[in-house]
Amino acid sequence: MSLAESIPKKLQTNIDNIIDNVSPNPWLTDAEKISYTDKIKVLLKQKDAVVIAHYYVDDELQALAEETGGYVSDSLDMANFGAQHEAKTLVVCGVRFMGETAKILSPEKTVLMPTLDAECSLDLGCPIDEFSRFCDEHPDREVVVYANTSVEVKARADWIVTSSNAIQIIENLMSQGKKIIWGPDRHLGQYIKNKTGADMILWQGHCVVHDEFKLHELEQLMEKHPDAEVLVHPESPEAVIAKADFVGSTKQIIAAGKASPADTLIIATDHGLFYKMSQVVPEKRLIPAPTGGKSASCKSCAHCPWMAMNTLGNLYETLRDMNNTIEVDEQIRQQALKPLNRMIDFSFQQGILTAGDA
Ligand code: SF4
Repeated sequence: MSLAESIPKKLQTNIDNIIDNVSPNPWLTDAEKISYTDKIKVLLKQKDAVVIAHYYVDDELQALAEETGGYVSDSLDMANFGAQHEAKTLVVCGVRFMGETAKILSPEKTVLMPTLDAECSLDLGCPIDEFSRFCDEHPDREVVVYANTSVEVKARADWIVTSSNAIQIIENLMSQGKKIIWGPDRHLGQYIKNKTGADMILWQGHCVVHDEFKLHELEQLMEKHPDAEVLVHPESPEAVIAKADFVGSTKQIIAAGKASPADTLIIATDHGLFYKMSQVVPEKRLIPAPTGGKSASCKSCAHCPWMAMNTLGNLYETLRDMNNTIEVDEQIRQQALKPLNRMIDFSFQQGILTAGDA
């Protein structure tokens, strides 16, 4: 068999493995998971704490958040939930910018993260000094940044957006005749530019997970499942987005999957989302869009390496020791709060966020 012929088989094996083992945790036995979960539940009460988890963290953390009155959602909802919740301590299971966002909105609360090493390639790829120079070169443009950025970059922005509200916010700015500087994700920026026709200059960052989705292998998968609907996160490459039946944020992908008449859904986003998707549409077959294949630079499992650093073990230790606290300089926080509040207010006005999200 030639190499070319063998690739689809390897690809299928990869996909089947992911389907069978969504979010495996090879480090803990089932008994250890139960033990950690029980201890965490006690600590959450003792410390007046609530768990706020992103869709991309491992299943057991999402389940724990749900079972204990916490919350699982996308970054916009997470920030809003944390600000509205009465708990004194927010435990953010996700990546650093999510913890920072929680702290910007809730400075009076203690914000903990299971690890402070969970970064994001978009945040890392957009250092404040370089980004600020980029903005200074175009003083006539409105600075719009994705939520996946440091607090310093947020403080430099006029607007912050998430993939849930980016199109509406850019359209709103366009209606005021504004030209845009966009950062950091180049694929999301290009998608918005194509969709709205806005005058946008793009920072060239990328997400290490979504950038790996492969067009050629996706087309092969679509041929194999001609009735499947393809749901794609807009951090994916333009050619992959072009194949989508639906493009949207994690929360919007879940809603689209629920509304879809298709029995099979091909999904291009982090496989952490499959936990919630399988709850919402248990009757449907969910297939991860391919990240491996002929053109792959790695045999990625479509799972964010930084999201995967959140575990029951380090969540337990963080709560026990009350360490890994997120701290933000007060002056920078005040500056970042303005565009963040602007985004939240806009999202409520447009019905993207509702009181039920809080
Ligand atoms: S999945 Fe991508 S965008 Fe999300 S945290 Fe990981 S690196 Fe950042």
